[in-house]
Amino acid sequence: MSVARTGMNQTNIQDLNRELLLNFLRSEGECARITLAKLSGLKQATVTNIINDFIRWGIVKEVGFLTGEKGRRSIGISLNKEEYGVIGIRITRKNYSFGLFNIAGEEIFSRISEDFTGVSAKEVFSHLLISVDQCIDEAGGRKILAIGVAIPGPYNRVTRRIELMTGASGWNEVPIEQELKNRYHIPIYIEQNANAAAVAQYWYNRDKLDDDLLVYVAAGQGIGAGIISDGELVRGSIGTAGEIGHTSIDMNGPKCICGNRGCLENYCSSIAFTRFLNERRRRRNSSGDSSSGSPETDRALTFREAAELVREGDEDAVAVYLECCDRLAVGVVNIINSFNPKYLMLGDEMSHVAPDLMLQRVRQRVRERTIPAIFESTNISLSVVEHDSMVNGAAIVAITDIFRHPADFFSDTQKKGE
Ligand SMILES: [Zn+2]
Repeated sequence: MSVARTGMNQTNIQDLNRELLLNFLRSEGECARITLAKLSGLKQATVTNIINDFIRWGIVKEVGFLTGEKGRRSIGISLNKEEYGVIGIRITRKNYSFGLFNIAGEEIFSRISEDFTGVSAKEVFSHLLISVDQCIDEAGGRKILAIGVAIPGPYNRVTRRIELMTGASGWNEVPIEQELKNRYHIPIYIEQNANAAAVAQYWYNRDKLDDDLLVYVAAGQGIGAGIISDGELVRGSIGTAGEIGHTSIDMNGPKCICGNRGCLENYCSSIAFTRFLNERRRRRNSSGDSSSGSPETDRALTFREAAELVREGDEDAVAVYLECCDRLAVGVVNIINSFNPKYLMLGDEMSHVAPDLMLQRVRQRVRERTIPAIFESTNISLSVVEHDSMVNGAAIVAITDIFRHPADFFSDTQKKGE
């Protein structure tokens, strides 16, 4: 289907109206046709036509009578949550997670893989394919419409490859999208993980957020940002906008594999935090100061253990965590000065260590380093999606496109991804 790029043609308008109604059905649950007309401002005849198509395709269904104003009864419509599903996958530097979602974006189940640290990307990917097979088996009769994948590191939308993943190699050799498409013959959506999380923040909180600029900062094993303007992701020319992990906070700092020096993510990712804390404990141990160290300080801590020490109030761990927050704040200041977002959300595993401590520290540092009027106009908060899951984000990237072009997925004449 080719759509004229100039102006708004009939197909555009029809897709926009369909998307509008699907989003109201999602937010309202069961809803009568007349209510949909009121909410959307569309003519009743238009709503009736669209809903008739939806029922024929199976994306929505009638659910008995609802009692409305003046006791009038009308037939309720709801999204068909039972028959269709979408799979969300999140790949990280050490493992992957995946889950099954209905077309309203509600999680049916999700799982996390074993730790694959040190295992080649190709091998991890072959495990992932088996997990997706199992996920489809467990979906029962539910038809899987699409798969969304959230990946770390810059994803080149032109070459369709991961360009770089600090701390894990080999992923740029794996043609994730093509392999999944060849195996499952359904549309595959690949999105950088911070972008996927930003989409999820917007989707789950649309009623609370206006369409002003939103930036989600993923402070995890890497550092990235997802930028949403007017409800749309800002992707940039080849799709790598928001790669703030590779903005420099020290032009003479250590060289990063991206080519730059002093890259932000080498100072405040969860990997960096764990490394800094281990180094500090080793130094303290070798200098013979055991005042705050346990006999075990020789053994390198994992991120999970380091996070636990912060929560227990361990002096070294808290100090290193706050240093990481300070560095992250420098990155946040750069984002705020570049984009002037109304909403800036902090998320991913570094924010889960001590959420309130991070929020308070980052706010404080940002206040010190920005023009007051800009600081005052920026809502800095923690992620509002429960568990902050990019698995959800990956699924919602796919569902967003299904809502945008439902005919491509449901009508008999057009099938996507074939
Ligand atoms: Zn870099």
